[in-house]
Parts: sequence; C-alpha cells; structure tokens
Amino acid sequence: MYHRVANETCDPWALCVSPSRFEEQMAALRQAVRVLPLQQLRDHLAAAADQLPSVIVTFDDGYADNFHTAKPVLERYEVPATFFIVSGHVGQPREFWWDELDRLLLQPVSLPASFRLDLDGSVLDADLTGATEYAREDYERNWNWRAWDPPPTPRHALYYSLWQRLQPMTETDRQQALDAIRRWAGIDPHGRGSRLAMASADLATLARHPLIEVGCHTQTHPRLSSLPVLEQSVEIRGCKDYLERFLKQPVKSFAYPYGGLDDYTAETSAVVREIGFSTACSTSSGIVTASSDLFELPRIAVENWNGEEFAHRLAGWLGGPPNKV
Ligand SMILES: [Zn+2]
Repeated sequence: MYHRVANETCDPWALCVSPSRFEEQMAALRQAVRVLPLQQLRDHLAAAADQLPSVIVTFDDGYADNFHTAKPVLERYEVPATFFIVSGHVGQPREFWWDELDRLLLQPVSLPASFRLDLDGSVLDADLTGATEYAREDYERNWNWRAWDPPPTPRHALYYSLWQRLQPMTETDRQQALDAIRRWAGIDPHGRGSRLAMASADLATLARHPLIEVGCHTQTHPRLSSLPVLEQSVEIRGCKDYLERFLKQPVKSFAYPYGGLDDYTAETSAVVREIGFSTACSTSSGIVTASSDLFELPRIAVENWNGEEFAHRLAGWLGGPPNKV
C-alpha cells in the first residue's frame, strides 16, 4: 500500500516514498515476485495449485504525484497497480484536510499565541506561547516527527488534537472548522501544488493505461463508521458513479478511507458488496491468503525504504529467503 511518491520533508503520517526509492522498490519487486493486478486476485486464489508468491500494488487517495511520478516508474518496470481515487478531490485546488492541517500548523510561519475553536459545542483550547514563531532550523529538526510519536512542540500537539477531532466529522463540518483555523492562522486558502489530487485529464489518461486500474475511495474521504449507513452509501455510490461516467469503464475495486477496523463497519462492507464492487481493501496489516475476505483485504504500508531494505522486508512478508538485488 502506497499513498504518495514524493520528496516531502514534513510527513507526519509516513505517506511518502521518495521517487528514487520508489524506483529501487519497483526494481526489487520485479526481480523477487510476480506482480498481479488486483482484479486477478479472485482467480489467483481459486487456483490452489499456484503457490508462487505474488504481490499486488495499490495507491490510496489519488495524489497528482501518483500520475506524474509513480506511473512512469510502474511503466518502466511493467508493474500493474490499482489507484483508489477520492472523487471529490479530482481537479480541485484544495488540499486533503490532513495536509491542510499540516500547512496551517506545522510549517515555519508565525501563528497567534492563543487558539480557541468551538467544535460542535465543545471547545478546543491551546496555548502556543513560545511556539508562535517557528524558525526554519526548528522546522527542520522536527521533519521526521510522526503523528504517533510524542509531540515535540505545542504546534504538533495541537495538530494531533485537531486531527483526532476533525477525522470523524462530516465533510461540511470539517471544512467549516478548517475555514475557522485558516482565519485564525491568517493563511490563504490556496493549496500547495505538490499536495493536490490529480487533474481530471491526468486521471483519464491514467485510467486508459493497460497496467492501471482505477478504484473508488469515496467522494470526500470520510470515516465511514461515523456516518449513518445512508450517507455511507451516498459517499461510496457517488464516487463509483462519478468515476464510471467520467472514465467510461466499470469500477470494481474499493478501499475504505483510513481503513482500520474502527473506520468501517459490517454495514459498510455490505453496502460495498451491494453496489457491485468485487473487492475491497482495508489498511489492516497482513498478507492475503485463500481464506481472506475479498471485501476486507489486508495490506502492508510501504515506507521510504531503500531497495535492499524493501527486498529484505518483502522476503520476510512472503516467508522466503531475501532475494539479492
Ligand atoms: Zn485514503
């Protein structure tokens, strides 16, 4: 499971693999295993005699770098891949909300000392005294911070508190909260080009490529388990309808936003089946076996490892000796 192929310095959720390391990883992958398209998984699992280790490559969210940076590498190594697209972000000038939060709080710009936001009747306060200025050197020192690590500054603590509060909200409420945070920070609403989703023309080009499958990742990337089932259905069906109309091809694969066991429910999986998907991916870490549920496929998050480290880990996941790369 990949998200972005980019040289990003601040990456709290470890979403980025650098372009050079992604190339090393694809070279190692090509050498070590067979790479299958996701839509061949069902047949592959049914062919019990086929014991060759195989890998499926997926990308979540539909960032522009998937098209500009990842696709040429996939072509070079003839690696098939599925890209799960958030349809409401295609061609839009705004960043994904977690990136917007990073832009507002974790970049080296001045912020007011006192933060106060009323979120649905419950107030979130933070005191940024001592952290209103954020020098380039301090920013660089905290580059490698991950959201699950202890926060090194009050800005990081506020970022994580807000992330937790915004994640289960509806899209409308979340955008209102982001507007209020933007006004507080005095930062303009234009997203950074490097963090945007794919342009619609690029998505259309991507979808026509024989190595590429386009899948659905909802309209706005909500935490589905926080929504009534009818709204879940609108999010999932709306994305599928948009992609099928726009791309003029069936969309058969789905990935649950956030994808953890708490982020979707049995009702969500039932909706995904009823709407006509044939597979759905979670973010639960693990290997697919013949007994895996095709509507809750586990994945392994690939980090910014070099080719050697990637090959070693790949061998570990597949249970064989590491291949030389
Ligand atoms: Zn996602």
